[in-house]
Parts: sequence; structure tokens; C-alpha cells
Amino acid sequence: MTLISSVQTHILDHKLETAFESASTSFNRRQHLLVEIECECGTVGWGECLGPALINAAIIDQMRGRLIGKNPLDTEVVWLDLYHTYRDQGQRGVTVTAISGIDVALWDIKGKLLSQPISILLGGRFRESVPAYATGAFRREGVDRISDVVAEVLRYKNEGFHAIKLKIGFNADEDLELIRQVRDAVGPDMRVMIDANHGYDVTEAVAIGRAASCYNIDWFEEPVLPELLDPYHDVRSRQPIPVAGGETWHARWAMKAAIEARAVDIIQPDVCGVGGFSEFKRVVDHAQMNGVRVVPHVWGTGVQIAASLQAIAAIPFSPYRREPLEPIFEFDRTENPFRQAVLKKPLEHQRGTMKIPDSPGLGIEICRESLEHFKYKP
Ligand code: CA
Repeated sequence: MTLISSVQTHILDHKLETAFESASTSFNRRQHLLVEIECECGTVGWGECLGPALINAAIIDQMRGRLIGKNPLDTEVVWLDLYHTYRDQGQRGVTVTAISGIDVALWDIKGKLLSQPISILLGGRFRESVPAYATGAFRREGVDRISDVVAEVLRYKNEGFHAIKLKIGFNADEDLELIRQVRDAVGPDMRVMIDANHGYDVTEAVAIGRAASCYNIDWFEEPVLPELLDPYHDVRSRQPIPVAGGETWHARWAMKAAIEARAVDIIQPDVCGVGGFSEFKRVVDHAQMNGVRVVPHVWGTGVQIAASLQAIAAIPFSPYRREPLEPIFEFDRTENPFRQAVLKKPLEHQRGTMKIPDSPGLGIEICRESLEHFKYKP
């Protein structure tokens, strides 16, 4: 038996050439946190944490002492020990995102020790590839928003994407005009999603949903504040577009509350935020038992991309039928030079489709030179 011998964090940082913003956040840097766990036998596993890199790193520094000397295969034992230790003040948010990065790294180790991709260890691969949608279309400084976004989504179409997601939640009238012009530009065959990043109140969200439904929108993501589960349900019941959400709900209990409040049609657990693979699987099971569709949230580096692809491979068909519904992979296309640079072999799409790696663990190799190059310097 090999035991955990070291836990390291790598804060990656890049100052953006052009700042961009969602309805709720401005981005002028990209910062993401990778987790590296090594065992006595020399096996190394990689994980990533959704959310603020420096805070995640500080929490993992606190958790390190509980990890050294543990069996890396004991993923449930480690998960519960960490969660229980911080339960009283850490049921959601960065405590859980920190545990997520650790759990992903332990599953990477488990896969490498057992010579299997994580998807196999989760129960098997329902698919070898997954269609991807392009996430972008943020508001950028110093340009006309609508013409800038229309040009951007046409680039995605030319790259081969068949689906895109637009950022709304800024100003309802302008947002609606953006949706109209994008649908006009991309034509009828492109799948279009909208994401308000909880920028509206219920009245605005209902009005936008009703007005935008004629543009054939796949889903309406984070229409209102994530704490407001009953208002989420109101938005669902009072306008026709399926409602999605979940990137800010962490661990099984937050997901359970949202699922049981009938807040969403589509739930979006992030494997690097919801609590890692261990928790992701539980959330998928609970969602499917309650008739809620699962489409994971993804926002990070190649490690997060790889983790999400393994998680997606193992999402069961629901319902099981001859031509099953398939999940779709969220592919962030905004500026982030270390997204692929952290990997020795990038995980890119081919004409809007992602192949799911099938080598052990996450199925990736990390480029240490890139970690050094993009290392955060306080
Ligand atoms: Ca989102």
C-alpha cells in the first residue's frame, strides 16, 4: 500500500490583454489553482479547484496535515474527513471547492495505480466523445457589445462549433437585442444558450424568457440569485425556456435542495467545485432520480477539462433509449494562455466535438515548464 507523501498547490496567473465581464464579475486576470498530490511510490495525481485560486490554496494548506500518510485510494474516507473537519463553517463555497481539487487528484492517482481511466472506475463509459459548446460572448471594454459578440460567435461557428452560450444579465433590452442579432447571424441550426450569471430579478427573467423563446434557446442559465430557490422555480414555471443552474451550489446538500425545490430543468455540477468525482457521481444519481437533466459546468485549465470529460463519460443515459440524450461539454474560449499550455498534449475540439481520453487517471500529462512560466508572483 502506498500512502500520500506530499500535497502541493500551483497558483497560475495571467493578466488579460482585454478585460471582460459577466453580469456579476469583471475579469482582468485569469487565476486558477492546480493541486498536485504525490504518493510514496512516486505516483502523482493532479486536481483543480473552481473559484478563487489564492483562497483555495490557503485552505488546502490547512488541509495538508490531514492528507499526509493517508491511503490515496480511500477517496470517500478522505472526503468525509475533510468535509467533517470544516463542516461547521464550510458547508459550501471555497471549502468544498478546495476538497474538489483534492478529490480529483486522488481519483487521478487511483486511476494510475489501477491502470484505468477514471470514467471506468466511476462505472464505465457511456460515450467516447461529447459535443462541445463555446462559452464566451462576454462584454468587453471599449467595443460595441453587440457587434463584438456577433463577430465572436461567427468565429466559433467557423471553427466548427454547433452550439454557443451568450452572456446576458446586463440590461434586459440590450440583452434581448443581442440574442436576436446572434440568432439572425448564426442561422437556425446552431444551438444557442443564454447565461445571466444571476443578473436579473424574477420579473426581468420571466420577461426575457418569454421574449427570447422565439429564438429557440436551449437553456436559460442562472436567471436569478442562486440562493433564491423558490424564485428560480417561479422563473421556471412562468416562462418557456428550460432553466439551468448549479455552478455555485456546492456539495450534495446544496444540490439536493435545488433539485427538490424543482428549481432547475438542467443541473450543472462542476466536478472541480461540487466536491470532486466522489460528489459529482452522487449529484448525477440524485438528479436523474428526480428527472433533472445533468450538463456539467466547466471553467478552468486542461486539468479541469480532462476531469470534466471523465465525469461526462460516466453520466448514465437518462432515459435509456435507442437514441439517448447526450450531455454537452462547456468549452471556455475566452483568453487564457495556460488553459492548454499546462498539458503536454492539448485537449482540443474537432469541429465542435471532444474526444474523451482513455488512458489511466485523468489521461493527461502536465507540462511543468508551463506551471513555472505562469506561476503567480505576489
Ligand atoms: Ca455560467
